[in-house]
Amino acid sequence: MTRMRADACPGAVATHDAADGALARVRLPGGALSSAQARVVAECADELGDGMIHLTSRANLQLRAVTDVDELVTRLANAGLLPAPTHERVRNILGSPLSGLHGGLVDARPLVTALDRAVCARPELARLPGRFLFALDDGRGDVAGEGADVCWRALDSGTGALLLDGADTGLRIPARDAVTGLVEAAVAFERSRGAAWRIREADPAPVLDGVRRWAHAVTPDDRLVRATSAIQVGPVGNGVVVAAPVFGQLRADVLATLGDLVVTPWRTLVLTGAVPEGAGLVTDPAAPELGISACIGRPGCAKARADVRADAPTAMISGVRAHFSGCERRCGRPRGAHADVVAENAGYRVDGTLVSPAQLLDTLRGRQ
Ligand code: SF4
Repeated sequence: MTRMRADACPGAVATHDAADGALARVRLPGGALSSAQARVVAECADELGDGMIHLTSRANLQLRAVTDVDELVTRLANAGLLPAPTHERVRNILGSPLSGLHGGLVDARPLVTALDRAVCARPELARLPGRFLFALDDGRGDVAGEGADVCWRALDSGTGALLLDGADTGLRIPARDAVTGLVEAAVAFERSRGAAWRIREADPAPVLDGVRRWAHAVTPDDRLVRATSAIQVGPVGNGVVVAAPVFGQLRADVLATLGDLVVTPWRTLVLTGAVPEGAGLVTDPAAPELGISACIGRPGCAKARADVRADAPTAMISGVRAHFSGCERRCGRPRGAHADVVAENAGYRVDGTLVSPAQLLDTLRGRQ
């Protein structure tokens, strides 16, 4: 594979130069954020950014329009959110967000912590592409469906399956060796990948060879991956609630009050405290807001033809599922069936058909 450009996933140190200023991405292995860290991030967004925290599809956080990146890095490092600056862009680790709180076959949280430390301890893994994704699934099959490059999915309390690019390899790895197995798979990928960024672009054979020492082989089981894996919004049990900020963006003053939380790869939050009223957090699984997503659009993105997050709320009516994009890149497009709404200079193109702003709502209603 030949690439014409280097992988340029942003971090907190190496930010992305967006139309509204520096965009910083803060990695949260397993999506975990303590209440103290949440307050620091909220202060950073308030004092150094646009006052909002944006959730990503990898359970990370983004701050936009950052005015002082050096100050941001200092504050994040002091809060323990930048433990290894050389590895910050490769700490892409999904963990089952409800693990240890409700359900699951194992508690994936200690595995996430151990994997993060193990990745940061291997100098060669600093060269992994920023798009490379690890996942540790506690057996419920949620993050296993996110197409991670390497995933260990618990099958019982002592054993798990190795998935590559979301597919079962047939290799079974004991829980005690799960972290080692994923690290060695990543090392083997890094050594053999050439210009590939993701497992799906590379030869899997060296990766499997790198793991066999810790595994035994069985016939691969296609049932280990589900097409739709997101955990539902709403009360879960044990006082745990999953809440969705509209468009996955959260006000800094709200984040500062939420306590310990877990960010999910579906741009939702797992909370163990009370959900504040009037904070833009949706907890009703039938709420029409949950059917509508949108990229950042204008003014944050120079490619955007419209302020899609200003236009999209008109489509928040019961039964409509749609994703609004400011251009054909369709950033943040969700999985599953939805209307594809792309901004044009004179309206929107809905599933390929150009409609005026006045026709947009009726067009989407017609797709209920
Ligand atoms: S879809 Fe286009 S306009 Fe929207 S954020 Fe991506 S590049 Fe920007």
